[in-house]
Amino acid sequence: MLYHSTNNNQHTARLEQAVAKGLAPDGGLYVPDSLPRLPKAFLRNMSAMTLQEMAYAIAAFALKGDVPEDVLHDIVYSAFDFEIPLVKTASGNYVLELFHGPTMAFKDVGTRFMALLLNYYRTRHPEWKTLNILVPTSGDTGSAVANSFWGMPGVRVYVLYPRDAVNKIQKSQFATLGGNVTAIEVNGTFDDCKSLVEKAFMDLELNSLMRLTSAMSINYARLVPQMIYYFWAYTQLMRQQKVGDLVFAVPCSNLGNLTSGLMAHQMGLPVKRFISVENQNNIFYNYVKTGVFTPKPTQYSIAPALDAGCPNNFARVVDLLGSHDNICRHIHAYSYDDNQIIETIQRTYSNEGYLLDPHTAVAYRALGEDLQPGETGIALATAHPAKLKALMEDIISEPVPLPAQLARFLGGQLHVVKMPNGFTAFKRLLLDNA
Ligand SMILES: *Cc1c(COP(=O)(O)O)cnc(C)c1O
Repeated sequence: MLYHSTNNNQHTARLEQAVAKGLAPDGGLYVPDSLPRLPKAFLRNMSAMTLQEMAYAIAAFALKGDVPEDVLHDIVYSAFDFEIPLVKTASGNYVLELFHGPTMAFKDVGTRFMALLLNYYRTRHPEWKTLNILVPTSGDTGSAVANSFWGMPGVRVYVLYPRDAVNKIQKSQFATLGGNVTAIEVNGTFDDCKSLVEKAFMDLELNSLMRLTSAMSINYARLVPQMIYYFWAYTQLMRQQKVGDLVFAVPCSNLGNLTSGLMAHQMGLPVKRFISVENQNNIFYNYVKTGVFTPKPTQYSIAPALDAGCPNNFARVVDLLGSHDNICRHIHAYSYDDNQIIETIQRTYSNEGYLLDPHTAVAYRALGEDLQPGETGIALATAHPAKLKALMEDIISEPVPLPAQLARFLGGQLHVVKMPNGFTAFKRLLLDNA
């Protein structure tokens, strides 16, 4: 199958090139020329499959022979080695808990799949020497990416994070690893970190001396495995014979998870509509309401993984759905501020006994406002509440226990390189390690 750039459909690449580069040379995002539609019989039989069996079958179908079967089988079985429970809350709505992976955020599946696929390509290309992964983070991406590549020979990961905007638990998840992971504390904002990485990808000298790869959700390899979430939720309901008109509410930042949902729909998953939910960084919400896409500087919120002022995957959403009218037909958009997030967490915890993390809370609230009678609503739960332990304890005035998976990082020693907010310093640091 061929992939083309969202800036120019004449510019094509094979899967390997799309994944190894991340971004097309013209600055566009890679999208498949066409996604195959799953046979109806496959959908009917899915409920007899395990998560891993289903994930492999769908990934093999979506990637159509671009990765050898045995290789893809190993990658999928390693990426999906934890549970994804579908929980019914007292309100009758569902929460799909995507946070039981190694770093307890939904990104674990996508980043592990990408890391293992890149590793396979690397072993076929000894001339690549070292693969350098650059990733700016407000918390979750950095931990998921760093843990996915940690200890992989021939790979170095650079995580850039804003000095004052990443909490202790999240920082410990990538900054205690050491080895092939370098944590860089930038004296600046998240947008500054993002801009340093973008400059590195544009710098000709740097790119002639080192092989740089983006691990952000602009990388197509992260989107493919995330489709499985949506199929898995559907099969869970099928097992209970509860599949009605299905509505998914997705907490959105760079729109990667939402794009995966749209891809699953295009492959034949019956979904009535999606709900995109943002925090006060409501760029996509404004687009849906006005038809105009206007990026803005990122504002910090209590749902830090939703803090994006320029949703990277917007071009893919447009590529998949086409016109603004069609986007509005398939996606209802919502946006909530910090006070609404706090109120939702408190209300849901006291009335229904379910503890939502701030990211999941926006999706859960939107379901309550958007669902029509007869529809089945599923909110995607993208992070474990304990990742923001101190904040959550403030909100519900009760202790929130730290799962062992998170506690194990806190005991470790931090290895952090402090850096001023300037490209010269970043370039020097990269070249010194090349
Ligand atoms: C990354 C992230 C999101 C947003 O996902 P996108 O694919 O960037 O839209 C939502 N919630 C959590 C907890 C995240 O880490």
